[in-house]
Amino acid sequence: MLSRPKPKQISETAASAIMATASDPGASRGSYKSYDPTNFPVFETPINQKILAYIPNHTLVDAEGNSRFRADEFFAHPIIDGRSYSYLRCIQGVRVDEETNQVLHYKETCECPACTAINECWSLVNYAWKSEAVAQGYNPDLDAVKDQFKARRKEFINSRVIKEAEAFITFPIVVIECEEKDGKLTTTPKIDSTGQLHGTVYWYTARRNSYESKWLSAIEDADVDSDHLGGRWVVLDYTVDKGLEENKMNSARSLQVRLKGNMDSYSEWATYFDQLTEPWTPAKAQEVVVSDVVRSYEEIEEAVDSIMAKTREQLSLLETGFSAQMDKLKAIGTNGGGVPALEQFTEQSVATPVAPAMPTAPMTPTAPMTPPGLPSTPVGTVGVN
Ligand SMILES: [Zn+2]
Repeated sequence: MLSRPKPKQISETAASAIMATASDPGASRGSYKSYDPTNFPVFETPINQKILAYIPNHTLVDAEGNSRFRADEFFAHPIIDGRSYSYLRCIQGVRVDEETNQVLHYKETCECPACTAINECWSLVNYAWKSEAVAQGYNPDLDAVKDQFKARRKEFINSRVIKEAEAFITFPIVVIECEEKDGKLTTTPKIDSTGQLHGTVYWYTARRNSYESKWLSAIEDADVDSDHLGGRWVVLDYTVDKGLEENKMNSARSLQVRLKGNMDSYSEWATYFDQLTEPWTPAKAQEVVVSDVVRSYEEIEEAVDSIMAKTREQLSLLETGFSAQMDKLKAIGTNGGGVPALEQFTEQSVATPVAPAMPTAPMTPTAPMTPPGLPSTPVGTVGVN
């Protein structure tokens, strides 16, 4: 797990500057999502369920003087940290002053170490599949071989430990306890014997795309005159289509957001929840939500170095190993004595690679090169001409 960075004093101006970088063109499956799960938990996708939620009504005035929905908008890199999937907030254009610990905004000058590390992740993808191809006797520069190893390359692409940053939005929601009927949760609020309603506040993080297509479209569908859902009661419908496996991924994909009507009699509760969520500000999200946390250049560099350690080790082994493999191949080819390996190398049929190694254990330079023997049963072969 990535360590929690030092608390930052984020002024309102700096916070809106950070968000401004996120809205300029140009972070689930996480097993840990909040650095303070007791007081500021992050909402987890429920499996095949409908949820009633209230969206607290908070707005802020942005740098251009416009009133907008109070939410943390940012870019984050999907990362694989050991065995966990998580997100690392991109700091392209964001800098923390080390002396004052103030978050500054240096759009032009600050590079993000995670953005930079992506190049190395791509190098590993290329060396990894090419080494496998060469080890099995195929020339990775041939188009037919590239096609043959397409699926394998895709696996390596998905295994990259740091990926390109994507746009996200984080805001609080209040999940309302509801009545059960026939063993299923309804979206009718449950009122206890003392007349109380029960709600739990969570951070909700969505990809910007999904926020626009699912949340904002709910407003359009309901023909409401607003550009956000603050102050609305919504049904988050995670019901999975029949025939699909009921799991988190399918539930998340199935999400439909609808406004819940006839909630006027709950307006006092809405006011109460607005007050309750006053401390759930973008600055608080930037302090406690793992994907939203703002790191200084040094802190993100340290995080990136730790995430990238294995990739860098593999990359250095593969770089050496790959040129050794190619040299060996050329040596066999030029030494003559039988069939020139290079000739065979370019002309033989390409067989489906069998039993591919796990992406975490690519070939090491000491692994012997497999001679390009013809497959005994040429099923699914591709001719190379
Ligand atoms: Zn970045």
